[in-house]
Amino acid sequence: MIILVLNCGSSSIKFQVIETDKQESSANPNVCLVKGQAETLGADCKIKYEVPEQEAVKISVPAGSIEYCIETVLLWVFSDISGVERVNGYQDIDAVGHRVVHGGENFKQSTLINQTVIEAIEACAELAPLHNPANIQGIRHMTSLLGPQIPQVAVFDTAFHATMPEQAYMYGLPYEYYQRYKIRRYGFHGTSHRYIAHQYQALTGLSKKRINLISLHLGNGCSACAIRAGDSIDTSMGFTPLEGLLMGTRSGDIDPSILEYLHHREGMGFDQLDNMLNKQSGLLGVSGLTSDMRTLLKEESDNEDPRARLAIDIFCRRVCRYVASYYVGMQGKADALVFTAGIGENSASIRQRICTGLECLGVHLDEQLNSGEISESGSKISSLESAIDVYVIPTNEEGMIARDTARYIKTAEENESPE
Ligand code: ADP
Repeated sequence: MIILVLNCGSSSIKFQVIETDKQESSANPNVCLVKGQAETLGADCKIKYEVPEQEAVKISVPAGSIEYCIETVLLWVFSDISGVERVNGYQDIDAVGHRVVHGGENFKQSTLINQTVIEAIEACAELAPLHNPANIQGIRHMTSLLGPQIPQVAVFDTAFHATMPEQAYMYGLPYEYYQRYKIRRYGFHGTSHRYIAHQYQALTGLSKKRINLISLHLGNGCSACAIRAGDSIDTSMGFTPLEGLLMGTRSGDIDPSILEYLHHREGMGFDQLDNMLNKQSGLLGVSGLTSDMRTLLKEESDNEDPRARLAIDIFCRRVCRYVASYYVGMQGKADALVFTAGIGENSASIRQRICTGLECLGVHLDEQLNSGEISESGSKISSLESAIDVYVIPTNEEGMIARDTARYIKTAEENESPE
């Protein structure tokens, strides 16, 4: 089945065309046919399109709306799948899978999109004002281009965390705000954490009820997730993706009273405070240099920059704190710690620093495995005596979206076919 995976954000679109069930024997049966992205939507938009093992095609457009970028991308996609320039129809694609950031309390799993679902996603837009409107724009535009005959599936970032118990998702605020406005913790990066659980299961051959692990998604955005019997039972992001770990530009946990204090001292309004917490804090804010972990590590080692070191130290300490609290929450029954995303997959030194902080839990890395090559399907990097296995598993959110989409279409077809 050929699935177009679309991730429409407020300022960028990412896409992949994935052929599912292509390599049946492999841990990852999906094959990416083309992928790319459009960045800085609006003014001076840059669109990049890559066919594996070919040079990427890049263009700049002076004003690229979501709609324009989707159409440009589709023309490329179809000329490549069909080998013909500017194919008139979109018949090559079997279905579209959309990443949708917020599913609120309504969506506990991926869902076939229809008008009612669009309206329900729209109703969640207040909870994710930057993301859900762009997701809906993408869905609506795809519907107008492809027509109703090509099914579309919404895969929610929040859905995997729908299994969190009440005591993990409720804040210590007056209960009426939950009743009135659904203020609670939702958690994000769910598709990535779900992929990690799925891939760990494939690597170990364990049954779902024996999947007990702590997943660490460490990229620009960062979150930790406690997974028991294959389900999310706690995660570090909350009502929004701001809570929890220190991130590239997001503060993660702070004492909320700081906001009121800054309002009085600096005259900062809500928009400024929100911008400071989301865009000027985290690694960038502490270091005063950059949100990019690679650069910070280099500054620390080449120039002994004290604030680069401080930012990295806070980053690692925060991860250890969350791992320790989940470990206790799981009554010590976490069998594995899994690193993923840009920092988690690529930085042996950050993994080392975090695992050194967890030595009291019996976590020990094998230095050679940690600094060696990581397999696409995931590699174990802990030593034999480690009490908890440590893995690096490269995340694949697009693959997971394609898999969910293909599964929905197959189920729908099976239900329709006569006995
Ligand atoms: P996003 O959350 O935007 O998808 P990524 O998962 O790509 O981001 O992660 C980006 C982060 O990964 C950046 O901080 C980048 O510096 C970091 N990163 C990528 N490669 C390395 C590396 N080799 N060493 C350290 N950090 C890395």
